[in-house]
Amino acid sequence: MADEKNLISEQQLQRERTLSRENEIQQTQQANGVRCPKCGTINEPDATYCALCGTFLRTGVCPNCGSEIDPDADFCEACHHYIKTDVCSFCGASFDEQDVYCPECGQPRGGIVCPACHTLNDFSFCKQCGRPLTEQAREMLQRVRQMPEYKELIAIAQEYNELQMQLPYETEQDKERDEELQDLRKRVLQLLAKDKGLQLDVVPTPKRQRVTKEELAENKNRKLDQLADLLNRLAIPEDPSPATVRNYAMAQRPAGVRLAWKCNYKNALHSSPCGCAKPQMGGKWVILGHNSKQDIKDDK
Ligand SMILES: [Zn+2]
Ligand SMILES: [Zn+2]
Ligand SMILES: [Zn+2]
Ligand SMILES: [Zn+2]
Ligand SMILES: [Zn+2]
Repeated sequence: MADEKNLISEQQLQRERTLSRENEIQQTQQANGVRCPKCGTINEPDATYCALCGTFLRTGVCPNCGSEIDPDADFCEACHHYIKTDVCSFCGASFDEQDVYCPECGQPRGGIVCPACHTLNDFSFCKQCGRPLTEQAREMLQRVRQMPEYKELIAIAQEYNELQMQLPYETEQDKERDEELQDLRKRVLQLLAKDKGLQLDVVPTPKRQRVTKEELAENKNRKLDQLADLLNRLAIPEDPSPATVRNYAMAQRPAGVRLAWKCNYKNALHSSPCGCAKPQMGGKWVILGHNSKQDIKDDK
């Protein structure tokens, strides 16, 4: 009888011990668990998604490819996917996970296909051809075009492009022949003028003057120095919105010059800010030399 009583209390004690251990486990699990940023549920420490609402919980990892990323990054440089599900990639506005179109700018969550080159884009300017894809992007472009530094930049980029098309003299004879031709042209023009009874004191010089290879290279380098200086002055400061920095930088990009985007995040060279995980830290366009292609982290 006494044994039986003892057995019962032993069983009870056992049950209580088990219960308290379960409680303990639950408590430590809650202490080590991952709190869902959206609904507050405490999930298992190694949970990937919230058990209640399905929110992605591992902030340091890309939900698309599993690469390690900065918790503040909205773009994965490893798999080139836009990863935020509650922020519009085009304008930076917050939206609901269920929204297919951004309530702020009206752009689709799935991206925009560039009408010019057919590239699928997550951001407001085409990462391939630079074309503005949204109304906001076109407005940004208009605003940037009003800036004096930008006007100067475009003028010098244009001059540089003209130098790029200019052919230098190949040889010394080449140069002499050209001078003879210039001389002949001058005499013909003077004769024609005399024929019409005019006095031609100044013969108009042809618009594009040929120069030697060395002179041309020097002229080009001078333009590139001026461009680099202007791009430095146009460097983009930090901004809380990565969308703003991407749009602003893309609007600034002058055509016809080989450029890369140098970010302040890792000082990496990207083909554009569309390939950077944290453009909100600012950055600038830099001019590329002839053999620097391999340094670009390309975003195809
Ligand atoms: Zn949740
Ligand atoms: Zn990824
Ligand atoms: Zn938007
Ligand atoms: Zn395009
Ligand atoms: Zn970067």
